[in-house]
Amino acid sequence: MPPAHPFDDDKLKEECGIFGVVGVTDAANFVALGLHALQHRGQEAGGIVSHDSDQGFNSARRFGYVRDNFTSQSLMQTLPGPIAIGHVRYSTAGSKGPTQIRDVQPFFGEFSMGGAAIAHNGNITNADALRRELIERGSIFQSSSDSECIIHLMARSLQRNIPERMEDALRRVEGAFSVVAMTRTKLIGVRDPLGVRPLVLGKVADGWALSSETCGLDIIGAEYVREIEPGEMVVITAEKGVESLRPFRPQKSRFCIFEHVYFSRPDSIIGNRSVYETRRQIGVELAREAPVEADLVCPVPDSGTPAAIGFAHESGIPYGMGIVRNQYMGRTFIEPTEQIRNMGVRLKLNVNRALIRGKRVILVDDSVVRGTTSRKIKEMILDAGAAEVHFRIASPPTAWPCFYGVDTPQREKLLAATMSEDEMRDHLQVDSLRFISLDGLYRAVGEAEGRNPRQPQYCDACFSGEYPVEPADQIQKGFKLKTAAE
Ligand code: SF4
Repeated sequence: MPPAHPFDDDKLKEECGIFGVVGVTDAANFVALGLHALQHRGQEAGGIVSHDSDQGFNSARRFGYVRDNFTSQSLMQTLPGPIAIGHVRYSTAGSKGPTQIRDVQPFFGEFSMGGAAIAHNGNITNADALRRELIERGSIFQSSSDSECIIHLMARSLQRNIPERMEDALRRVEGAFSVVAMTRTKLIGVRDPLGVRPLVLGKVADGWALSSETCGLDIIGAEYVREIEPGEMVVITAEKGVESLRPFRPQKSRFCIFEHVYFSRPDSIIGNRSVYETRRQIGVELAREAPVEADLVCPVPDSGTPAAIGFAHESGIPYGMGIVRNQYMGRTFIEPTEQIRNMGVRLKLNVNRALIRGKRVILVDDSVVRGTTSRKIKEMILDAGAAEVHFRIASPPTAWPCFYGVDTPQREKLLAATMSEDEMRDHLQVDSLRFISLDGLYRAVGEAEGRNPRQPQYCDACFSGEYPVEPADQIQKGFKLKTAAE
C-alpha cells in the first residue's frame, strides 16, 4: 500500500492502529483485514495474537505491510481461535532508534490467572518515570516501547482478574491511550479519560470488533455500533456481549482534532461525522477566511483533496487535478543515483502542465510541517508555467510537537515555531500563504461557536501549545511549555 501522503518525511505521522475481534471463527483473519484497512496509521510493522482453547496463545509479529505478511495461509494457520487482537505501527526510527522485532506489538504477559495480550495506540507521557520505577522494583523489560509499562504494571497489581489489573495499571499511566487487549475469552477496549486517540465498537456476525477507525469495521462487514467513550473500558465476551466500566475520574473529552484533518481515513466516521465531509467543510471555511483571486484550485494529493473540493465549491473557482500522484511509488523504491534522488518529489508527483500553464493556482494542502516539500511543489508548479501560486492550508500552523502518539519533529524544526505566517510565505516564495484559523477548524468539525478558549473541546496542542496532559517526561528532558507571553 502506498503511503497516505507522498511526502512522508514532511508530515506528522500517526504511530499506530489497533484492532480486535471476539466470537468469530478464525478471528485472526478478521484482524488481518482490519489492520490492512488501518495501514495508513502505521506501515513499518504489524502483529497479531490469537487464542485457541487447544493451542493456547499464539502470536506473529512481522516487519512490513499487513498484506505482505498476514495473507500467507501458512502463517495464518498458526493463529487459530475465536479471539484475536492486532497492531500496526509506524517507525519511530530517528527519535527512538531503529525498531527491533521485540518492539512490535501486541505485547504478551503470563499472569497467575492466565495470559493477556495488549496493543496500544497513543503515548504514555510519564513512561520514563514509570519504567525507572518498575526497573528499580525488579521488572525486566523486553522492548524499548513505552507500552510495555502497562504489562509490568499489570504484573504488579494485586487484583484477582485481568480487567481489574488493567484498570490498576492504566490509572498509573498518564497521556493518551487507546488500548485493545485480550485474555483467553475476553476482548477488552479502553480509552484514556480525555479520549485523545480513537476507538470504535462494531458487531460482526455473532461476535464483536474493536477498531481504531470505522474503516476497519467496514472491511470485515461489521456494523458500526458506537465509539468507546473517553474514560470507558469495555469487556466483551462472545456469550455475554459488552460490559461497560468507568475506571477513571470523569473528565471533559479532548479528542485529537488532527484526526479530522489528516490522520483518519476520509471514509471513516468520527463523532458521527464523516471525515471526508469535515475535510470538505474545512475547505469551505478556508475559502471564507482567506479568499484570493485565482483561476484554479488544486489539491496536493491525496490528503488535500476534500478541502480543495470544499474551497473550490465555496469560492466558485474551478477545481482541477493540477498535480497527479504516481500511485505505484512506494517507499521501497530504490533510487539508484544521486541525480535521481535529487529529483525528490518529481518521482512521486507530476504536474499536469496543460492545466496549469498561465493560470493563477491555489494549492490546498493539509498541513505545513517543515515546509521543505511545500517549496518543492511550488517550484514544480512555477516550472510548469503557472502565473501565480497561492497556498491554502487546511490546518492552523503546526508550531508545537505532539506527545500523544504522533511523530513530530523537534519544535525548532517546525516552520511555524520560528516564523510568522508572512515570514513563512516569504520563505516558501509564494504569492500568498494562509492557514485556516483555529476557530475556523473548530467550526468545520461542528463547533458552531468555534473554540472555547476556557475549555477547548479538542486537543489542539500542536497548534495552540496548550497541552491537556502535561508531558512530564519531555519537561524532564528540557522541553519548555508555552509561556504566558507567547
Ligand atoms: S497535539 Fe495535535 S496531533 Fe497530538 S493529539 Fe493533540 S491535536 Fe492530535
